[in-house]
Amino acid sequence: MATNGSVLESNVDVLIIGAGPAGMMAACWMAHCGVKARIIDKRNSKIFYGQADGLQSRSLEIFESFGFGDRAWNEANHLIEMCMWNPGPDGVIRRSDRIPDTIVGLSRFQECVLNQGRVERFFLDNIKKYSKGTLQVERAILPESLEVDASKVDDDSAHPVTVKLRHLSEEESTPQQQVNGSKVSDGLFRSSLVYEDDEEDLIRKSQSRAETSEIVHAKYVIGCDGARSWTRRSLGFELLGEATDFIWGVLDIIPITDFPDIRMRCAVHSAENGSLMVIPRENKLVRLYIQLKEVTPDASGRADRSKITPEIIFSAAQKIISPYKLSYEYCNWWTAYQIGQRVGTHFDAHERVFLAGDAVHTHSPKAGQGMNVSMQDTYNLGWKVGLVAKGIAKRSILSTYRSERQQVAQDLIDFDHRFSRLFSGKPAKDIMDAEGVSMEEFKNAFIKGNMFATGLSVNYGPSSIVTKPDTAVDEKANKGNHQGSAAVTRISADAYAKRQALAPGIPIGMRFDNVQVLNQSDGRPWHFQQKLKSDGRFRVILFAGDVLSAPQKNRVEKFCDALASPTSFLRAATPPSAPVDIVIEILTIHSSRRVETELLRDFPEILHPFDAHVGWDYDKVFVDDVSYHEGGGDAYFKYGIDRERGCVVAVRPDQYVGWIGELEDFEGLQEYFEGILVLNPKA
Ligand code: FAD
Repeated sequence: MATNGSVLESNVDVLIIGAGPAGMMAACWMAHCGVKARIIDKRNSKIFYGQADGLQSRSLEIFESFGFGDRAWNEANHLIEMCMWNPGPDGVIRRSDRIPDTIVGLSRFQECVLNQGRVERFFLDNIKKYSKGTLQVERAILPESLEVDASKVDDDSAHPVTVKLRHLSEEESTPQQQVNGSKVSDGLFRSSLVYEDDEEDLIRKSQSRAETSEIVHAKYVIGCDGARSWTRRSLGFELLGEATDFIWGVLDIIPITDFPDIRMRCAVHSAENGSLMVIPRENKLVRLYIQLKEVTPDASGRADRSKITPEIIFSAAQKIISPYKLSYEYCNWWTAYQIGQRVGTHFDAHERVFLAGDAVHTHSPKAGQGMNVSMQDTYNLGWKVGLVAKGIAKRSILSTYRSERQQVAQDLIDFDHRFSRLFSGKPAKDIMDAEGVSMEEFKNAFIKGNMFATGLSVNYGPSSIVTKPDTAVDEKANKGNHQGSAAVTRISADAYAKRQALAPGIPIGMRFDNVQVLNQSDGRPWHFQQKLKSDGRFRVILFAGDVLSAPQKNRVEKFCDALASPTSFLRAATPPSAPVDIVIEILTIHSSRRVETELLRDFPEILHPFDAHVGWDYDKVFVDDVSYHEGGGDAYFKYGIDRERGCVVAVRPDQYVGWIGELEDFEGLQEYFEGILVLNPKA
């Protein structure tokens, strides 16, 4: 760190602005990839109460890959069933349907709920552990200016983004409670009903004190500073879309009630009093999302927040759930918001400053998407920025953040549009009531939306990291105000179809689905996903087929010879004297019988590398065989892979499938990695 007059000046590879879920996920990648990074937040503490609580299947898989999935899964309340409550012919609400909350069989993890504060705690602990304490959220810091030197953006070693930071006082960094005299903490300071234009004021106040500023030169900046994103505004970008007229209140209470489904997730549509969503939470808490019919937006389109109190929200809930009785003694948190459905016009500037999370998409919280999609944005971006900053991957992969996540953001808004309308709408009285919402329609939309909501339906389009034909590009990705799409590796539709047919159950562009396999050396069953850790490495998964058949063994040996050759992408991606699997890990799943196969006899060394200090690597070769205690033996079947011949799959560091080919198509695999990685690095 140097000083420029009295101003501190320093360089950093990655500066993350905002330590909500999106910022923490980005920081987590930096910690796991060993990138020199900083993360700042204008607030002096993390969240402790309220805000987001729904964790979807894909987010839990991601947490597991970083090593804290078990903490979230064990502590959270699991949502097993969704109950629909609607007015009967007499106008009184009654349970009309029950469905599983998450589609059965999609993932080992189903939707569960836990407050955002705990999720942030898990991130903080994980970041500290993996960065060995070098990366921690620096609080009470606000950016004052951001400039990108366009003449340096193509220089890999440059730090073209200059950000001036302001250090705030304790008082300046403490959010004001909006409702004076309330005993319960509210979340209104983050609500869409409050204009939070305090940033300029905070900067002015801090300018009057000495030594409160510093200048940071960053290679990359990731703006994760929420819906009112300062980063977005300072780049001159906008969120486009609309606010709806629906005002919603949220209460986290321990309810005292005779409503029979209070420990189930429920959508309650009353005949005349609006709708209510019941979300049973950890520690006896229940979250109620309540439509506030008493509060309506004014001519400017905004509702008067002074009219909203926990009492008003609660009395609306009582009316909707009547004739059941509802009261409480303990309220943990409350807020109110107006649904705004908006997507960012731009996701990055010069591929040097990126926007993620609520900074590029806002929508209603009831479908439990915001925190999940926000974290998944930076889960997509973090490894790319990290590997490029370290000189492992080419800068060209950064354009895929925009092409991949802009589409997801648009899909999210479309999903939210449908879900909010159906949830906020009045139930149809009968089949002739065209204005009202048919409860059958609501249920069907919920079931259809469920796949999207889990985060498991994401299917990334063609690019340098997903080998698909151009024709598969969804046109939506390139239309309207969207920025352009990413560079695409050329492949014909025929060639793609042939490759995909080798493993129809592993769709190129989607996350690698889980199967159970056994470790060849000790017979222990593993969920194979557990082996796809988020450590910044690509993986080549060799489905080696039946290695006990001589012709197949020969194919495997030829593939391994090519891998081990000095000119292969594997060798060329590895710095001299570094372990061979430091950038790309090779994992094998074969289909011969475990007890007839020997690791050292039947598998070439490159599949279980030798280290002079710790011997052979016994954690790289797995078998698709039945375990003593937990079944299994159907991985090839599930993936649709020929048990004799196998195939090869390249998986990105975020577990999305990038390439599939035959064992003979080494050239194709080489080309895939040549398009992504900086080969023959110096150190
Ligand atoms: P944020 O969480 O808003 O974090 C932004 C961070 O940036 C904050 O820490 C803020 O202090 C900081 N910051 C802001 N400006 C600056 C600046 N200028 N300088 C430095 N730091 C700055 N989502 C779900 O997935 N599931 C749910 O069940 C769910 N329920 C919700 C319920 C409610 C009532 C609400 C309000 C939201 C809910 N959400 C839910 C949405 C979810 O909270 C957000 O989508 C999510 O927090 C977005 O994460 P983020 O990191 O992008 O932004």
